[in-house]
Amino acid sequence: MSLATATATATHASRLIEESGQQAPYLLTPGPLTTSDATKAAMLHDWGSWDDDFNRLTAEVREQLLEMAGAPGDAYACVPLQGSGTFAVEAALATAIDRQGKALVLANGAYGQRAAKILDYLGRAHVVLDKGDYLPPRDEEVAAHLDADPEITDVFLVHCETSSGILNPLSEIAEVVKARGKGLIVDAMSSFGAVPLTVEDVPFDVMVSSANKCIEGVPGFGFVILRRELLEASAGRSHSLSLDLYEQWRYMERTGQWRFTPPTHVVAAFHTALAEHLAEGGVAGRLVRYTRSRDRLVAGMRAMGFATLLEDRWLSPIITTFFSPGHPSFDFGRFYAELKARGFIIYPGKLTQAESFRIGCIGRLDATVIERLLVAVREALDAMGVDDCRPVA
Ligand SMILES: *Cc1c(COP(=O)(O)O)cnc(C)c1O
Repeated sequence: MSLATATATATHASRLIEESGQQAPYLLTPGPLTTSDATKAAMLHDWGSWDDDFNRLTAEVREQLLEMAGAPGDAYACVPLQGSGTFAVEAALATAIDRQGKALVLANGAYGQRAAKILDYLGRAHVVLDKGDYLPPRDEEVAAHLDADPEITDVFLVHCETSSGILNPLSEIAEVVKARGKGLIVDAMSSFGAVPLTVEDVPFDVMVSSANKCIEGVPGFGFVILRRELLEASAGRSHSLSLDLYEQWRYMERTGQWRFTPPTHVVAAFHTALAEHLAEGGVAGRLVRYTRSRDRLVAGMRAMGFATLLEDRWLSPIITTFFSPGHPSFDFGRFYAELKARGFIIYPGKLTQAESFRIGCIGRLDATVIERLLVAVREALDAMGVDDCRPVA
């Protein structure tokens, strides 16, 4: 294809999108998610990775993330890292856990399991407290594990386990971990930016999140906020050149630049997303919007007969798991396609025991969008001939 043809095709495609009145289906998925026009527009500029203007964006992003975590800059550092969130989790585990250390991984879903798998690859000693698909790990059992096995040096916990949508009891677990002087590593990937999480309330050692979740940026990098002392002691610990957080940090401190080619457009988009986050009232403002969406979603789905996997007290404002209807005419593939045709992309379930699907509330959307989704769900069910949404007993 010639350049002229390619340009004409691209222009035609964007005109079609504009004419359809809606840019694209809403992504009711926990990242990538629907971003604002301003965030997308921030990617229309090409940045030089060495340039001062780009380095300023990086510095401001790092500073603002520390602020969001209530982490004082003399005690904590923010280290961004190219790649998806898992790259940052892997880098964080390799940096935080000493080669002679031993981790207790609290798992109740795919992301806890993934952390254990990463530790297998890294060859770091670990034990897993596996609660299955959705039960929360509680403080007493974590305390009992730590007391029974004094070799454990660090505890890993997923704040919002996105595979079920549960908001795990981080504060109570942090308390027993810290009371025993152990390291606390938190995967706050899908919660940071919308669920309050500050160093003052939860004295974590390491916290990991990424650009394309509650801060509503586009995918391309993750970031780790961690205690400086720990970072300084971690030289030479990493198994990997490109995932070495210590080296990434040192290089950034020295030069203001990323160690290898940065996702320049993604960083620029994230910088804009952070400004919008602030304008919305920061974490508190975002929590209000997501909670309203979640409440409307859960109430509307229950009114149609759907059941949630979790009791209300464990529901996160991030993503909710619903059981699939037991009705013989329900088919997830068809349901997905019917909703997509109506402008909504949902997520399949991730439970090992029961048929389910998930609907996220994060991204640039609010309760009025959820209202339209509920109409689309009703229409999709009618199209399939499903008149009873109760799950299999
Ligand atoms: C999204 C997410 C991750 C990272 O997943 P990637 O696909 O690598 O971005 C890790 N943990 C949790 C809890 C998540 O929601």
